[in-house]
Amino acid sequence: MSGGEFDFIDRFFAPLAGEGALGLGDDAALIGLAPDRELVLSTDTLVEAVHFLPDDPAETISRKLLRVSLSDCAAMGARPRGYLLNISRPAAFDDQWFASFSTGLALDQKLYDVVLLGGDTTSTRGPLVLSLTILGEVERGRAVRRSGAQLGDTLWVTGTVGDAALGLQALLGELPDEDGYLADRYRLPRPRTAFPLAGLAHAGMDISDGLVQDAGHLARQSAVRLEIDAASIPLSPQAAKTGEAWFETCLTGGDDYELLFTAPEEHSTAIMSASREAGIAVTRIGRVTAGQGVVVLDAKGQEMRLSRTGWQHF
Ligand SMILES: [Mg+2]
Repeated sequence: MSGGEFDFIDRFFAPLAGEGALGLGDDAALIGLAPDRELVLSTDTLVEAVHFLPDDPAETISRKLLRVSLSDCAAMGARPRGYLLNISRPAAFDDQWFASFSTGLALDQKLYDVVLLGGDTTSTRGPLVLSLTILGEVERGRAVRRSGAQLGDTLWVTGTVGDAALGLQALLGELPDEDGYLADRYRLPRPRTAFPLAGLAHAGMDISDGLVQDAGHLARQSAVRLEIDAASIPLSPQAAKTGEAWFETCLTGGDDYELLFTAPEEHSTAIMSASREAGIAVTRIGRVTAGQGVVVLDAKGQEMRLSRTGWQHF
């Protein structure tokens, strides 16, 4: 590590370090876990010009990077503890940029009760690459998997669907977004870490690639068929206002970071009270049946034909 790198870490990242990070002064971080707990790990990488633009606000880039991983933790029914951060930094991103990047992380560390545990920085002649690994914990054996859905389960989603995908279209100038709500939902996901999936859900995941495509992943892992009632899909007032022509975008667009889960019918009351307690809306949108894949049913119970199912990574 060069002197410049020490200075860089000292100024922007040491203030973010918390319990377990050992002041970023040791060779590794140290995490204690109670004997009845399991560690939950997830990692995510953002690359300049692929996942964000060089002139996107640094503060929202860092917050989105952290929040996407927090959402994965929530999807497993886990409580997030801390994170590791790796940065490959080109010269064009100056100290001012990283000051704002670090401010964003500080804000979200408070909001979601997580700390920086460690990481690595290098310089690069390539694009800026940001990689974050989250560590969370869950009671042993209680992690919520995609594979646990059972026949007869009800299907639920938190929050609203489609805002982020519409927000991206608004940022591209394809849609009006007078109050900026949709663009904000695209830039800053709301990870549902406060919603206690463990113990309530048989199966769950977070929606990152679009409701229909991600429901397909859950259906495949559980070897079941998911039926979604189009009319019950929760839309924000701003999304509803965009009208019928954008409905398919809501179903198939990515970046929602809401939780999609299945649960036995008898958990419905507990799910609704957990929703009130956490201040996170949940909506019942369908059911688990025998078969495979995902169908979206219109008001007449007819299968809707979608021209695409979701975000393609490559
Ligand atoms: Mg995920």
